[in-house]
Parts: sequence; structure tokens; C-alpha cells
Amino acid sequence: MKEQKPLKVLMLSAEVVPFAKVGGLADVAGSLPKALQQLGHDVRVAMPRYGRIDPQEFGLQETLPSFPVPMNKQVEEAAILEGRIGDHVPVYLVENAKYYDRDGIYMYPDDAERFIFFCRSALEMLRHLDWCPDIIHCHDWHTAIVPNWLKTIYSDDPFFAHTASVYTIHNLAYQGIFGYRVLEVAGLAKYGFMYHPEMADLSEVVDLMARGIYFADVINTVSERYAKEILDPKMGEKLDPLLRDRRDRLYGILNGIDYEVFNPATDPYIAQQYDVEHLDKRAANKPALQQEAGLRVHADTPLVGLVSRLADQKGFDILSDVIDHLLDLDLQFVVLGTGDPHYHEMLSRVAQAYRSKAAVFLTFNAELAHKIYAGSDLFLMPSRYEPCGLGQMIAMRYGSVPVVRATGGLADTVADLDPRSGEGNGFSFEPYDRWALFAAIVRAVENFKYGDTWRQLQIRGMSADFTWRASAAKYVDLYHRALATHAKDEKAEQPAKGKKKP
Ligand code: ADP
Repeated sequence: MKEQKPLKVLMLSAEVVPFAKVGGLADVAGSLPKALQQLGHDVRVAMPRYGRIDPQEFGLQETLPSFPVPMNKQVEEAAILEGRIGDHVPVYLVENAKYYDRDGIYMYPDDAERFIFFCRSALEMLRHLDWCPDIIHCHDWHTAIVPNWLKTIYSDDPFFAHTASVYTIHNLAYQGIFGYRVLEVAGLAKYGFMYHPEMADLSEVVDLMARGIYFADVINTVSERYAKEILDPKMGEKLDPLLRDRRDRLYGILNGIDYEVFNPATDPYIAQQYDVEHLDKRAANKPALQQEAGLRVHADTPLVGLVSRLADQKGFDILSDVIDHLLDLDLQFVVLGTGDPHYHEMLSRVAQAYRSKAAVFLTFNAELAHKIYAGSDLFLMPSRYEPCGLGQMIAMRYGSVPVVRATGGLADTVADLDPRSGEGNGFSFEPYDRWALFAAIVRAVENFKYGDTWRQLQIRGMSADFTWRASAAKYVDLYHRALATHAKDEKAEQPAKGKKKP
């Protein structure tokens, strides 16, 4: 890209580290802005101020007192508190007691309204701040309405005339599907449902993610492999016809991880800090973890770590089919995760049945997650699909060797060990099948017996570059593409802005 002037970017996300985190989205929204800022861009982030975010703890300041936000033909009030990611990236937190003063982040019956209010407040806030971004970068379904608005109710608004939208899909399975009323809430009723000849559902429901894909100037997902996989009906979660229509503006950019947060040399949570030059020191973290988990302290028993949302996507069905056979092997398991109740049950049973070999923590605990990355020998991610996956990259950075299913970002980051050439940085299997998973773990456990091979695997993982540097530069290219597309589409006059409700 030729033009390299600093860009003004507003990033919209439902989760941002360190303020609120459920999964990898929060990691990305908390670390990509820092990397973009280091490249010289003016990046700011907006998110809701959930009740659990304590203004004092984060030193939040009031930036905008109450201002009006149109909702459902009425007007509601929002206010903006301001915090920082790191020292320098401004974060605008949208306040409204009715929508956000609750214990949790998601899973409320009015989630559509809550996130539409957040998005509308973020756009209206910009006028009051007198800060007009070149790019509005939206993440996942919660913010997918924004590209739709920019091409409809805001399309004649001079304030946003030169603002392009980028829409990032972190997980196609969570689309934000609601009824017609959402269009009224969003002020889009007069445009009605969308229409697509191969997607009958779109004429009956409001699929927010579909709208992000349809209206954004460019779209991307979080690994190159996943960007290709979702074009196929098997992986497209029913949106593949739309994605194929838009493939000329669909890209894949691998996530990075935050090297300040995930750094074994400075990690305050782990028993013994270390780096690739002092790998021997890592060994002290294993007995510390075994002790904390109530497992037998033993250096030669391979310790398998797993830190994950407990969801179907993550491979827990094939794992539960084979877990008893795995625990017949000479190995130990430490699992940290929360999610679907039936996986809680399955894992509780395993913990009961194999007390000395399996420890299960059914909670969200960042500190323990770091201890598992530092203390485990193997890190398991047998995902059915995985848009990017951060766990395997964090594990490698900490010298835990990944065992993964070769899908999405896992396939893009983990190369199966080739016993002949010695190349590879982990273990992977292709078929989504319990015995393929079993065989990959057996191979890993066998290789664990060979100290030199293992050390090489660890060193390769720890030396890999999973920083945001390269990916942030790719996002800058993507932003320029979005601006070019926006300018071109403006000239060519907008295509259909969504068809009228039949
Ligand atoms: P996803 O976004 O699908 O949940 P990722 O692998 O992209 O999966 O990111 C998951 C992130 O959340 C990682 O940083 C992982 O360490 C963290 N994480 C997941 N579950 C837990 C948990 N129970 N406690 C602490 N951290 C967790």
C-alpha cells in the first residue's frame, strides 16, 4: 500500500482486556490497538461499561456527561467514561444503568438491544468528541449493525462521509439472530429484512453477523485457513453463500498474542520465571502446578494442560469419548474451563474417578491459566473448528507443546512433528475422531520420553514470532483497502441497502 498517513481508527468490541473478558475476542481487542498505535496510528476503543467494571479500579474519568442516543423512535441517555489500555490507548466506556448494570456480560434476553444501544452511543459519541475516524473496526455480531447503519441511516451524514468499515469475524457460530423488532430498535424497519436467493432464513430473521458481512467495506477473519474454510457449506454456518458473494473482500489475518501479558520471563503468577535461554528453570513450574492441583508430584509423568471455554466447538465430545482410555496411559491432566453444564458434569466425573491423575477447575481464573501454560508439558486443543485459537500460541510461548486438531488457526500455527526430518512444533491430527485424538496424544507422550527431541520442540515453539507486529501491519493494509473500497462504492452509488420486508 502506498499511502502511509497515520489513520484514525475506532475499534468497537463487547469485550476488551483488561476491562472484561470471556474469550479470545477480549485478548484481541486489548492487544491489537496497542500494536497499531506502535505503528503510529490514532486508535481508540469503545465498549460498554458493564456493572462489574469498577471505575475506581481502572481509574476511569468522565469524558462526556449524558447525551441523547436514538433508540426505537425514542431517545435514551448515554454517558462516556474513559480509561486506558496500557498507558496510551484511550478506551471509551458507554454507560447506561438500564442496559449494563448487571452481573454478567452476555446471555440476557435483551442482548440485541443492549449491543445496539452500545453501538449507536459509540457513533453519536464521536460527534461530541469531534473526532471522526477513518475506520470503524467492528468485531463479531455485537457490533455488526454499524456497517449496516453506515450504508443506510448514516449514509448521507457528512460527519461519516469518509469513514469506512471493517468487520472482523472471530467466530461464525455466534451470529446474533433476532426477530423483526430489532430492526425497529435499530431504526432500520423501513429497510426490512435482507434477501438472498440461497438463504431463505434471512427473509424471516435478523442475523446481525450477516449484516456485518453484507455491508462492511472489507471483512476479515482471524486466520487464513478459517477464511477459506468458511466458504464451504460444511463450515459456513449457513452464511457461506453470502461469504462466497463477498469473497473478493474477505481476508484472513492471524491474531497475535500480547507479549507483555504472556511473558514467562516476567509473569508474576508463575512459580519460577524463565525464557528460552534459561529453559531449565521452567522445570520448577511443573511440581508447583502438580501440588496446587493435588496431583502426584512427578517430573517424568507427562502433564497435559487444557484451558478453554467448555463448548462443543472445542472438541469436548470426542475428548469425553476417549478420556478414560487416555487416563489409562501414564499421564496427568489439568483442566481449567467453564461453559456447557454437560461438560462440567463429564469433567467432574473424571476428576472423581481419577483423583491422582486428573484435576479439574470449573471456573475462570487467569492466574491459574498462566500456571498451566508454564507448568504443563502438553497443551491440548482438539477443536472441531477454530477460527484462530490463542491457547496454542500462548502454550508455545511458555514451552508447553501443543496437541491440536488441524483446523483453522490451529492448522496455521502448529506443524506436526515429522520424525524423519525432526521438523515441526507440536502434534496435530486431521479427522475429527476420538481415536485420531488418542493417537496424537500417544505420539506426544512417546516423544516426551526423548529429552532432546522434546527440548527442540519447546525451543521452536518459544522462538516463534506470535507478536502482533506482523498482523497489525496487515490490518493497516486492510484499513487502506477498506478506504479504497469505500471511496469506489461511494462513486458507483450504493447497491441495494437491504430489501423491503415482503
Ligand atoms: P475462544 O476465543 O474461542 O474462547 P481462544 O483460544 O481464542 O478461544 O482464546 C481463549 C482465551 O481465553 C485464552 O487467552 C485462554 O487462556 C483464556 N481462557 C479460556 N478459558 C479460561 C478460563 N476458564 N480461565 C482463564 N482463562 C481462560
